[in-house]
Amino acid sequence: MSITAVVGANWGDEGKGKITDVLAAQSRYVVRYQGGSNAGHTIINQFGKFALHLLPSGVFYPEVVNVIGPGVALNVQDFLREREELVSRGVPEPILRVSNRAQIVLPYHKWFDELEEERLGERKFGSTKSGIAPFYADKYVKLGVQVADLYNVPRLKARLESSLEAKSVLLQHLYGKPAIQADELIDGLLEDAERLKPFVCDTSVLFQEALARGERILMEGQLGALRDPDHGIYPYSTSSSTLSGFAPVGAGVPPYAIKKVVAVVKAYSSCVGAGPFVTEISGEEADELRRRGGDAGEYGATTGRSRRMGWFDAVATRYGCIVQGATEAALTNLDVLGYLDEIPVCTAYRTDGETTTHFPVTARLEHAMPVLEKLPGWRSDISGIRKFDELPVNAQHYVLRIEKLIDVPIRWVSVGPKREQIIER
Ligand code: GDP
Repeated sequence: MSITAVVGANWGDEGKGKITDVLAAQSRYVVRYQGGSNAGHTIINQFGKFALHLLPSGVFYPEVVNVIGPGVALNVQDFLREREELVSRGVPEPILRVSNRAQIVLPYHKWFDELEEERLGERKFGSTKSGIAPFYADKYVKLGVQVADLYNVPRLKARLESSLEAKSVLLQHLYGKPAIQADELIDGLLEDAERLKPFVCDTSVLFQEALARGERILMEGQLGALRDPDHGIYPYSTSSSTLSGFAPVGAGVPPYAIKKVVAVVKAYSSCVGAGPFVTEISGEEADELRRRGGDAGEYGATTGRSRRMGWFDAVATRYGCIVQGATEAALTNLDVLGYLDEIPVCTAYRTDGETTTHFPVTARLEHAMPVLEKLPGWRSDISGIRKFDELPVNAQHYVLRIEKLIDVPIRWVSVGPKREQIIER
């Protein structure tokens, strides 16, 4: 029995998609267990460049079973659209399974997300407006709709009606919009349900049987540790747990079945959306790093915002690895730093008159300043290198320094966006 979780140690966009794609080759199942289509994993392989939002990153291997677990925010149309796009671009039909216990992102979740960000104005959180926060809010106040409800019309109608009762009051009186009736939504949902049907099953049974057969399962986290609602930079967090510890819950497997946790760590920092970001840089310095890292980013393009950039933050990343329970790390985007003479790395924070290496709560983080150490750059293109000891000495030194700072063995070093641009140590 062997489950590996691939998770982010930073703010998301660490390159989890690429690492999952690499590790998927040795797995029978790749599983999404939280989040929805509110972030993108970029994958470049023999079929082209893809941004996966909802589909697990194993979809490029025809023998891998790709599973949407009960913990995911399932936008059915996004799911179907992504699948169709893959197939239309020549990817062999992937095996996809959707939990009958997963809940559906409903059209009004997206509307409420948009209306709320508009109402908050300057105080907004930088939502991607995909309906994820209203979706999880409904789930936990027990007003959600499960996939299985789509196949029982009276039940679906009753679920929608109870959810819309309070929403209509908010729509009319808080947002000044017309109320919505369940009947307006039913036909569209039933159409989606028919198209989704071939993929729906009880994924808990699927995993129970897979584990009994000793098959390998890969859990794929979305976003990163610092966006976790409990352990991250609340309230600039996402609405479901981004931690490996949530994988057993969101997928439906025993917690002790997870043997390895691969924390994906970026060689510098980037983040999308609002919130404290201690090592942030600006101006031409940031533009250059963003440009070289390709970090204008598909995600940024979707939301019309480019990623915020910063130097490597060992305080945040070490903390990210701790809360993820990392057993090993994958360091990505090392190639991007090859243009610098010196590379600053943040080793501690100064906040409230003291220096600390422990990641502070958001209230203290807001005014933390980075303590920077400068490491020598290597000034060369390392994207063709496949062995650690063939990297320039300064690049090796950079990896080893980060390994020491985060206190987790770096087993993988990624030197480019493509599947084969990886060094295993
Ligand atoms: P994810 O959501 O964690 O999968 O990350 P994203 O896909 O949002 O962002 C990672 C970006 O970095 C994508 O554009 C990837 O193609 C790219 N990428 C991943 N690993 C590497 C790497 O080692 N080097 C370079 N240059 N780009 C990489």
